[in-house]
Amino acid sequence: MVQIFDAYPALSAALPHVALGAWPTPVRPLRHLGGNCALYAKDDGASGPLYGGNKVRKLEFLLADALERDAREVMTFGVAGSNHALATALYAEHLGLRSISILTPQRNARYVATNLLAQSTTNAELHHYASEEAARVGAHYQRLRHRRTGPVATIPGGGSSALGTIGFVSAAFELAAQIEAGHLPVPDRLYVALGTMGTAAGLLLGLRACGLPTELVPVRVVREDIGNEAGLRALFERTNARLCALDPSFPRVSYARVRIRHDQYGPRYAVFTPAGMAARRRAREREGLHLEGTYTGKCMAALLDDLDRGDLEGRVVLYWHTYNALDLGPRIAGAHYSRLPPDFHAYFERPVQPLDRD
Ligand SMILES: *Cc1c(COP(=O)(O)O)cnc(C)c1O
Repeated sequence: MVQIFDAYPALSAALPHVALGAWPTPVRPLRHLGGNCALYAKDDGASGPLYGGNKVRKLEFLLADALERDAREVMTFGVAGSNHALATALYAEHLGLRSISILTPQRNARYVATNLLAQSTTNAELHHYASEEAARVGAHYQRLRHRRTGPVATIPGGGSSALGTIGFVSAAFELAAQIEAGHLPVPDRLYVALGTMGTAAGLLLGLRACGLPTELVPVRVVREDIGNEAGLRALFERTNARLCALDPSFPRVSYARVRIRHDQYGPRYAVFTPAGMAARRRAREREGLHLEGTYTGKCMAALLDDLDRGDLEGRVVLYWHTYNALDLGPRIAGAHYSRLPPDFHAYFERPVQPLDRD
């Protein structure tokens, strides 16, 4: 069920949407991480049947829009191990669309190989370009090449257009319904990883539109030119304008400053940090919650840093879990990297970064 349609039925007539996931995703208490506060997780790990995590909510709107435009193919962007590119490839194929993944280099980790192998089991066409500039040129070329077979719908990196962001506005309405039903009290704070910003911008808009006073704490895990407050505000306002245009009864919400956490990023995107890996270990050992080093470990590290400093005493705190929890093992069991274009082979042949152990 799409919670925002429940509150604003006119949106349901105006917005293309395709059901991919299982909603609502569960909320559960985290009782063993320490600290004198009421800690909860909103767990999007198993949000969809093919691949979980936060991209499913965005793709329900983005892929429906592609179908509405009669596209045969979708093109999207990311780094080699992109969770978003993988989610797009899997769900596009599920809906009878082909996909084109325009990918760029990243620091090596085991999940990169796993995600690439998983993409190789789909009908996605994978391209690796040496830089973001080369990827832009390459995308242009591929779009021309593929246009002959039918319209190509473009989905931005991370799925963070205004349309994709609506998935997370709806997620905040879903949370409000869970609060209403007594699954958790109103959170004082909500911690979430900040990448291409659709997740944080949507949650922030949705919280305000529902009248929830929860403070959003976005934890930046990407370069600052990709994740920053001006960009967050712009996406928030574009998404709000889009919703108001589709349904004039949707509230126009004024943006109020948020405090982005910059201290957990580390040296580079997808470079695991000691604090992120310590948070990952603590969450796994005490709560059986499986985080990774690029996004969720760094987000949890910010939360635990505040917790251990006593900053969360007596508060209700929500951690929004954005990483896939489905085992890709069976899917990739018969796959081999030799079937990927040669540019990707280095991710299988070169060592992973030092902190990617255990
Ligand atoms: C993409 C992603 C994020 C970041 O979401 P954005 O909407 O891009 O900010 C967080 N966690 C995981 C696991 C992701 O794959």
